[in-house]
Amino acid sequence: MNHTSLRWAVVEAARGMNARGLNRGRSGNVSARVPEGMLLTPSALPYESLEPAGIVTLGLDGGVVDAGAGPPSTEWHLHAAILAARPDVGAVLHAHPIHATALACLRREIPAFHYMVALAGGDSIPCAPYATFGTAELAAHVLSALEGRRACLLANHGIVTVGESPAEALELAVEVETLASQYVAALQVGPPVLLSAAQMAEVHTRFRDYGRGHGRRGHEDLAPEGRGRGSGNDEKEGRKPKLPPPDVPGAP
Ligand SMILES: [Zn+2]
Repeated sequence: MNHTSLRWAVVEAARGMNARGLNRGRSGNVSARVPEGMLLTPSALPYESLEPAGIVTLGLDGGVVDAGAGPPSTEWHLHAAILAARPDVGAVLHAHPIHATALACLRREIPAFHYMVALAGGDSIPCAPYATFGTAELAAHVLSALEGRRACLLANHGIVTVGESPAEALELAVEVETLASQYVAALQVGPPVLLSAAQMAEVHTRFRDYGRGHGRRGHEDLAPEGRGRGSGNDEKEGRKPKLPPPDVPGAP
């Protein structure tokens, strides 16, 4: 299979990481699920020169189906492990954005200091324990940290986000980096006041409610999946809750 449109989606997300300020140079990688396994960005190729034909097709066991402009990203274990274990995930993005990576180097999670943390699916954006890049051990750590989540930090390394599409994973990565920069800014003045579990539960409920018909164009691809604490069966029922406007009346 050719997967032309999905190849373009991977290329655009890979280029978008640099354009949106998430990465500099060649770090970061993007994958998308296909019947054969996954499409994955190749290793050590500048994304500005990456074309759809250069995308590598791999089985989830790492076997190369189409070499593209290979070799595949050294983080293929991480992408494969998530796609194999999470049928709700269609795309995985990994990047090294400055503020989120700074927190990851302190091995700190992003707590519920802001209600938009709920976008990542829970009441925090956790930090996965350290393991050497490119290893199955790192993939296992990330998979655990992503339980009930759509994003996590990687200790002394960067972030991972997931979505139904590469574009959705990219948008979430931008949100995570924005939250990280806000959290770092707040920490410079003092410890921020954290929202309670009850307050975050209300946010999760509102996000799900907006997903039932109150989404706004331009935010629709940032939908939380209702996988957070106390979430319902949105995913099983195939619904896709939409991101609420951040400034809606009555929003916390
Ligand atoms: Zn990395």
